[in-house]
Parts: sequence; C-alpha cells; structure tokens
Amino acid sequence: MYSPIQIEDQEYYIKPMNCPFHLHIYKSQLRSYRDLPLRFAEKGTVYRYERSGVLHGLMRVRGFTQDDAHHFCRPDQMPDEIDFTLNFSINMLRAFGFNDFQAYLSTMPEKSVGDEKVWHDAEAALEDTLIRLGVPYDIDEGGGAFYGPKIDLKVRDALGREWQLSTIQFDFNEPERFDLTYIGEDGKEHRPYMVHRALLGSMERFFGVLIEHYGGAFPAWLSPKQVKLIPIADRHNDYAHEVAVKLQKAGLRISVDDGSDRMNAKIRNAQKEKYPYMLVIGDREIEEGQVALRRRNGENPGAMSVDDFITLALDEIERKV
Ligand SMILES: [Zn+2]
Repeated sequence: MYSPIQIEDQEYYIKPMNCPFHLHIYKSQLRSYRDLPLRFAEKGTVYRYERSGVLHGLMRVRGFTQDDAHHFCRPDQMPDEIDFTLNFSINMLRAFGFNDFQAYLSTMPEKSVGDEKVWHDAEAALEDTLIRLGVPYDIDEGGGAFYGPKIDLKVRDALGREWQLSTIQFDFNEPERFDLTYIGEDGKEHRPYMVHRALLGSMERFFGVLIEHYGGAFPAWLSPKQVKLIPIADRHNDYAHEVAVKLQKAGLRISVDDGSDRMNAKIRNAQKEKYPYMLVIGDREIEEGQVALRRRNGENPGAMSVDDFITLALDEIERKV
C-alpha cells in the first residue's frame, strides 16, 4: 500500500494525513503542564485514492489541503479547549455566510480504546458546549470512532443541501501509541488529551461549497473582482482610469471596461461577471468629480464622490456584508 516513489535515489511517499507529524513535534521535547494547551495547525496537503467514478469537481478530489490542527491539553483543560474549538469553527463558518448549522455528536462504539469514564467525560464536554453555544444537534449513539467521540458540523447551503465541514475529534489512542507525556505539577509523567480538528475541512471542497452557496455572487470582501468602472463613451476613459488608480490605492480590486460596447451592454456584462459594484462614468460625473454607483442586486444609489464610494465600499468589506 505504501510503496515509495523513487526519484534520483530518494524515496518519496504520498502523505495521507497530517497527524503523525504533529505528534512527533509534540514529542520532540519535554513538555510541562505549564506548556499546555499546545496547538499545532497547518494547511496540510494530503492525498487519498478516490476511485475515478466518485471524483467530483472540487468536492471530491485526490489531492487536497486540510486546515488541520491538533490540540494537546491536560484533562482539566478539556472543557475550555472544546469550547474554544467549537466557537472558532462556528465563527469561521459564520464569517463566510453560513448560519444554518447542524451538529452530530458521535458517542462511544462497542469496540473502543480508552477508559470508559474518560469517554463519557469527553462526550459530556462536547454536549455541554453544543448546548451552551445553542447549536442544534443530533446524537449518533455508538457512532464514534474506536479512538474517541467527535462532533461533525454540517452547514446547509443556499439550496438547502447539507455539507460536512468542521470536525472536532477526540483521540485516546494516538497519545498512547506515540507515548505522549507531560510533566505534571506533581513532577510525574501524565498523558495529555488530544483533539484533531479541521475548521473548513478540505479547502478545495470548502470553496466548492462556497461557490454553490453564493451562486458565484460573492459578497464584496470575498469577491475576486470588486469594482467595475464603466465609462459611457471613449472620452470618459481617461477619467475612469484616474479613478481606477485611486481605488486600487485604497486596496480595492478593480477593472475598467474601456471597450467599445454601449453602456447597457457593459452593465449587463459586469452583472454577469457578478461584480458587487459598478461605477458608471459620463460627462456629469467628470464635471462633478463623481461616480454613479449601481449594485449587482439592481439597487441604484447613484452619484457620489469617489472618496464617498471608497468609504462605503471599505466599510462594507470590513463588515463582511
Ligand atoms: Zn489528525
């Protein structure tokens, strides 16, 4: 299964998961109870053999990037650590415009490793946090992995479909297997708790879900292009480019449609390209030093100074509206 690839007398392996590397980093030095919690995070590229029949756009791929982390903590820190992690996940998903969540709490299966009391403490900590944060959840009785209980967070997209993104997974197996320890207040060796977590899951899949969710019409802060400048006639092009420089300096992502199409065609194209802001420029705008704002949703706030537009756009971007 793990046959190496030979390149210039070197053996290379394809990495299926990030966990063991973080465990080795933990083990690379002596850890004290004062060092905990310790959290190692990375955008780790991993590879899985998915059959060609199930590969699907960005949703299911063979090479992907996990926003992966492993948290190591003392038993007494566990409730806070779960709270921190679930809050982090939810805030992250909310920032991207997902507000409809469903959590699934998977509990101890028949075959498992680790102490039963520890399992139930961990399950209780997960459930308490869900209740405290007001996240609706179902319990998958006995559905946990053999090595620990977990929470999966699913989001519902604009079309009502559910996607599994975040995972918070306890692990009572790996700390044993890798013999992870820390020195407690009593000067003795203790076993830390370990949690695997991914917030967005696979970055590729997350972007797939995001594109579906917004139908390509991203909010301004996420939009690859934010402002389209639309000069009505050739004689307005120079002014449009002057404004463009100013907007770019303010940090906005812009482009200028200085082609020969008529204004209505330029607006239609910009709408098709899902620009959140279109700035129309004609004789009057040049005379007054203004731009005329139209929004993607058809709203038409009209003429304003370039500075006022910059303030408005930066404020909406900052607030992620
Ligand atoms: Zn892991």
